[in-house]
Amino acid sequence: MRQILHIDMDAFFASVEQRDDPSLRGRPVVVGGANRRGVVAAASYEAREFGVRSAMPMAEAHRRCRNLVVVPPRGGRYAEVSRQVFDVFYEHTPLVEGLSLDEAFLDVTASRGLFGDGAAIARRIKERVVEATGLTASAGVASCKFAAKIASDLDKPNGLTVVPADVAGFLAPLPIERMWGIGPKTAPTLRRLGYLTLGDLAKADPGALERALGSWGPEVRELARGNDPRDVVPDREAKSIGAEVTYDTDLTTREQIARTLLAHAARVAERLTAAGIAASAVVVKLKLHDFTILTRRMTLPSPASDTRTIHDACLVLLDRFPLERARVRLTGVSAQDLGPAEAVQPTLFRDEKEDKRRGVENVLLRAKERYGDKPITFASLLEDASPRAERAAAKPVRGGSPGERAPSPGRRR
Ligand SMILES: [Mg+2]
Repeated sequence: MRQILHIDMDAFFASVEQRDDPSLRGRPVVVGGANRRGVVAAASYEAREFGVRSAMPMAEAHRRCRNLVVVPPRGGRYAEVSRQVFDVFYEHTPLVEGLSLDEAFLDVTASRGLFGDGAAIARRIKERVVEATGLTASAGVASCKFAAKIASDLDKPNGLTVVPADVAGFLAPLPIERMWGIGPKTAPTLRRLGYLTLGDLAKADPGALERALGSWGPEVRELARGNDPRDVVPDREAKSIGAEVTYDTDLTTREQIARTLLAHAARVAERLTAAGIAASAVVVKLKLHDFTILTRRMTLPSPASDTRTIHDACLVLLDRFPLERARVRLTGVSAQDLGPAEAVQPTLFRDEKEDKRRGVENVLLRAKERYGDKPITFASLLEDASPRAERAAAKPVRGGSPGERAPSPGRRR
């Protein structure tokens, strides 16, 4: 039986800040842009007690927690600590698949002779991470990736959850929201249909699940039953920040796919910017209806963290896929070869000279400020055909910066 660990640092960016600055310890700390238009890149556990979460607009975080301490991101520092953490992983197995700076799958099946069983290796890695960095991690141990990933999140922070041989029995009582890949859109649909737990999904009629979730339905049922044959794919370069979505209905046109890549690029750029990180490579991933996974990767001319550069790279990559008659069920974008973005302006769009682009960005930031509860991205502005979004996007392109606008004729009278 395979032994797979999923290890995830606890509130990584915020914990690094609290470690480096003792005055931040015990306080509700978030990492993110100092102005209220940014988003939370990471929240300390003290901040989470107030309901503050990563990816939340900063204004909302301030509303929820009056004593919130906002620390500007130091991407270089996080990359440095991440290397120390991954070095500990590599001490125990070469089969490390990084999911982000602070999270990885490890296949330790062949390491048991040296270090003991999966639980012992997880305990040892957690201790070594504390020694090397002073920071805690949470671990899940299981015979498959799906269960390991769920397990690492069950007992945070500083948790260790070992999934027994009866994986399905372990998963059965968990609410469907715990399922990796079931997002806020899918969960209510499933709940309406009476699927409340992973056990309900495991027992579901495959046809009914396929009607509810599309071609993803049968896979969900198998995962819920603890059947996940996916291997840990080792890649020393895999530390990345990514976004991906599985669609209920397969995408069949290049235009549909390109649109999803724009949404992903915007999300990735937002996360990179919030973390003060720039990427030197972009990867596009497509999963076809028959579960074939295709990826294409390109190195950028210079490190970037803006939506436009990442999306442009995605479009170049998209042309390298064989898309004829393809039915695509999942699209993803990830930024790789991460490094500090100190030299890069903390904006979502890099080319400051291009007025049109800057106009859209300013609107984006002001829209965020005004409608802070609802995450608004460049992609959603393009997609949202409501009059409000159209007006907002059109104004600065025509009229320059808002401060220079002439008073309206109505007010003059
Ligand atoms: Mg983490």
